Amino acid sequence: MTATPTPANLPDIDAFTRPYWDAAAEGRLLLRHCAACDRAHHYPREFCPHCWSDAVTWRRASGRAVLYTWSVVHRNDLPPFGDRVPYVAAVVDLAEGPRMMTEIVDCPERDLRIGMDVEVAFRRERLPEGDLGEGVLHVPVFRPRRAD
Ligand SMILES: [Zn+2]
Repeated sequence: MTATPTPANLPDIDAFTRPYWDAAAEGRLLLRHCAACDRAHHYPREFCPHCWSDAVTWRRASGRAVLYTWSVVHRNDLPPFGDRVPYVAAVVDLAEGPRMMTEIVDCPERDLRIGMDVEVAFRRERLPEGDLGEGVLHVPVFRPRRAD
């Protein structure tokens, strides 16, 4: 499988976070894992925020999480969000421990429950041409977990 090209001039995608976005393009969620204290963290950092060790590497996450909290956004003037309202901005607790800001998809608002099982999915975002460059980003979002 070839990695989806990402624009080199995106502020979020540098040599450090590139593996994260490349994995996302292939449907895998990566977390930073610390060998010193055996804990994961997110967002990605070069040092472990728990013990400050630099023995931190990328590790594939299970993609499983539970919903911690959410908010239905009805108005957002910033592109591309303006065309997308209402959407569900959420915080989920990943099975590996870290808490992550994300969005819940494929779930009617009335079915949202704190503690519900969710799983990662990747939404393909076409980046607008402009100061961020042009390209495609695969953004992790979460949806209700399907039965195994
Ligand atoms: Zn650590």
